[in-house]
Amino acid sequence: MAKELYELNEAIPLGEIPKKMHAQVIREDRFGEPKKAFKREVVDVPDINADEALVLVKAAGINYNNIWAALGIPLNMVEVHRKVQNDQSGFHIGGSDASGIVYKVGANVKNVKIGDEVVVHCGTWDVNNPDIKAGKVDPIVHPSNAIWGYEVNYGSFAQFTKVQAHQLLPRPKHMSWEESAAYMLVGATAYRMLMGFKEHTVRKDDVVLVWGGAGGLGSMAIQIVREMGGRPIAVISDTSKVDYCKKLGAIGVINRKDFKHWGMIPHWKDTDKYNEWVKGVRAFGKAIWDIAGKGVNPRIVFEHPGEATIPTSTYVVERGGMVVICAGTSGYTATVDLRYHWMHQKRLQGSHFANDEQSAAFNQLVLDKRIDPCLSKSVSFDEIGDVHQMMYENKHPHGNMVSTVQLG
Ligand code: NAP
Repeated sequence: MAKELYELNEAIPLGEIPKKMHAQVIREDRFGEPKKAFKREVVDVPDINADEALVLVKAAGINYNNIWAALGIPLNMVEVHRKVQNDQSGFHIGGSDASGIVYKVGANVKNVKIGDEVVVHCGTWDVNNPDIKAGKVDPIVHPSNAIWGYEVNYGSFAQFTKVQAHQLLPRPKHMSWEESAAYMLVGATAYRMLMGFKEHTVRKDDVVLVWGGAGGLGSMAIQIVREMGGRPIAVISDTSKVDYCKKLGAIGVINRKDFKHWGMIPHWKDTDKYNEWVKGVRAFGKAIWDIAGKGVNPRIVFEHPGEATIPTSTYVVERGGMVVICAGTSGYTATVDLRYHWMHQKRLQGSHFANDEQSAAFNQLVLDKRIDPCLSKSVSFDEIGDVHQMMYENKHPHGNMVSTVQLG
């Protein structure tokens, strides 16, 4: 008979599903700084439906989204589970990246079988929606889209995770379990941003400005631009990151600490302050020219800091170019000088994770050994709260961090 609960260092026989599991859990009464919000608990292993699979998690990637889940802002994820998914568990199990082994599949599942070694992409949607099934809508844009391990409960910070089977992709066998869990969320997000918007995919020799070049998204973006033959320029805040970005393929690196014009644009009628801002942004533009060549502006700007940087991004992007943005880490109020925006026919494009095809295309680059997962730190299951705290304080090492989960 199956044991009720296995320890993290115990082997769980293939296909055997215990009743309970260890999980790192966030509850509403613990919302706040990640180091306090996460706590190890024993909870029930979830059931799966016909289109789903249960995966034994070997390693779980650490991403910024579960800092937001820990804080309970901008959304209370426990409430989202309760109201949107009718999940009355009263907790949130985060974790939007995993490597592991398929332990159970639903009746409709054809793409994987028990025993397959997989990585998980975090895009979920209503797989039975007629428009999605007919290919009429990009599923990651469909209203039913929700990120597994964030908006959808039972992510990878537990011994077992519940996923839609289409989220599963082959894991790179040339990598460790930890490396395999490090790259998918940030990599597929960066891939859609750089390769997903017609007319503005990276072409040979394109200059692409990458904010947070040594971060999770940035380290993937630099490599994708490099692989597409483009010329990535990285922005960082600390000189210790310069060599790291250059090794990944950046043709040059700009330290944002050398500039002071960050944040919302002063009102255009406030001439003195506005002119001061223009001086700052032009100096930043010159720093790009010093690397790319005089008059050469980025055709694509890879954005995620948001409020602090979007005025600069929209100003320095080339005429007819695109600023593509997937987050607002520094704030959500984007200010743009519209005169430059319309006269120079620029595009400001929102982007959010990726669809199955984009996730698979990015995974293929990894399987082909063209992308490094940029694993910088691997911690134990009980340190999941601590590493989210480091990331929250922007004190985490370059690249991506993971936690081991099931060791046995
Ligand atoms: P990360 O590893 O912490 O990297 C972000 C980098 O941004 C930092 O290393 C920092 O680099 C830079 N940064 C921070 N504050 C900044 C500011 N005020 N101005 C300019 N640069 C700043 O995080 P990540 O994994 O890359 O994620 C970044 C953001 O994207 C998070 O908000 C995350 O939730 C979001 N995200 C969204 C999606 C999506 O699908 N929508 C997917 C992945 C991530 P320097 O200090 O060196 O400049």
